[in-house]
Amino acid sequence: MNRTDLLGMTTEELKEFAVEMGEKPFRGKQLFKWISAGEKNFENMTDFPKGLREKLTETACIGTLEILEEQIDAGDGTRKFLFGLEDGNAVEGVFMKYRYGNSMCISSQVGCRMGCVFCASGLDGLVRNLSAGEMYDQILLAEESTGEKINHLVIMGTGEPFDNYVNLSRFLKLIHHEKGRNMSYRNITVSTSGIVPGILKFGEEFPQVNLAISLHRLDDEGRSALMPVNRAYPLDSLLEVAKNHALTTGRRVTFEYALIKGENDSDEDVARIIKKLRGILCHVNLIPLNAVKETGLNGSGRKRAAEIAKILEDNGIACTVRRELGAAIDGACGQLRLKSRTKNG
Ligand code: SAH
Ligand code: SF4
Repeated sequence: MNRTDLLGMTTEELKEFAVEMGEKPFRGKQLFKWISAGEKNFENMTDFPKGLREKLTETACIGTLEILEEQIDAGDGTRKFLFGLEDGNAVEGVFMKYRYGNSMCISSQVGCRMGCVFCASGLDGLVRNLSAGEMYDQILLAEESTGEKINHLVIMGTGEPFDNYVNLSRFLKLIHHEKGRNMSYRNITVSTSGIVPGILKFGEEFPQVNLAISLHRLDDEGRSALMPVNRAYPLDSLLEVAKNHALTTGRRVTFEYALIKGENDSDEDVARIIKKLRGILCHVNLIPLNAVKETGLNGSGRKRAAEIAKILEDNGIACTVRRELGAAIDGACGQLRLKSRTKNG
């Protein structure tokens, strides 16, 4: 099937597309409006003549993903999706309900090449980047399936967003566009494993989007063992950039810290967090590790997490323990995809 996916296109590109089809440029603007409203069926685009609707149906599409699997946690309303891509690959996304609204966690790549030892997403390395349209479609399909509007977004699924910066940037601009979905940048969080040049570029281009940085350990040797990216961008340079990012954007940086039993949860580890993060406008998010069988690592447990949170708070470091959403389903990023691949050989 060689239909053109219009989902990742800007108004300008849609205008060009319309002209290439022999139409007036304003048809591109109309398309952008329909796409932003979540309409995927050209037949429902009532302000287009019938002939054009038919031509569009033949030659174009809006979104290329399909839902392969959906797990629902009836307790808290969390839904985990496995999305199939046109080329046979699959990625995951998670829909979550919060007091402040509905949030979607989306993937930015198929697999990941950063190789963090605790993560299911990176086990087989990177397969390919997702296009802007493929990131966008995860939101549209989740909205279709739940019948609910999504107004918060976290880019914390499979993949390293700053390893796919160009498509990420295009996607963020598209969903923020005031004539489009108009999603507030303040409602979006991008999580990185700590790619310094990416953070610098991102801070300039998207100062209003929330930045989360995965730390997981606060000494270079230990962090490099967990996260090879630390060899390229060691802690001091990363924390310096994070500190400046918070200063120039005026927004608190979130530091993610997954608690791994015996790896990063000792009193000494906690003392290092306090020493290194003091003076940075930040917030620490302690994450209960989702045990991934293949990694042989286990979480520290709720009790130790609460203890660590208290020590951090007592030392003036703002901190929360991430709520365990969807406890009944395969929580960790990458696990559902992994399972489906194992199942399908
Ligand atoms: N690549 C980016 C974003 C995707 S990972 C990053 O690393 O930040 C999103 C978050 O999930 C990161 O903080 C990551 O360290 C964490 N994570 C990965 N595997 C996990 C696991 N098994 N349990 C808990 N958190 C995990
Ligand atoms: Fe990639 Fe993030 Fe997983 Fe590390 S934690 S392997 S950067 S997805």
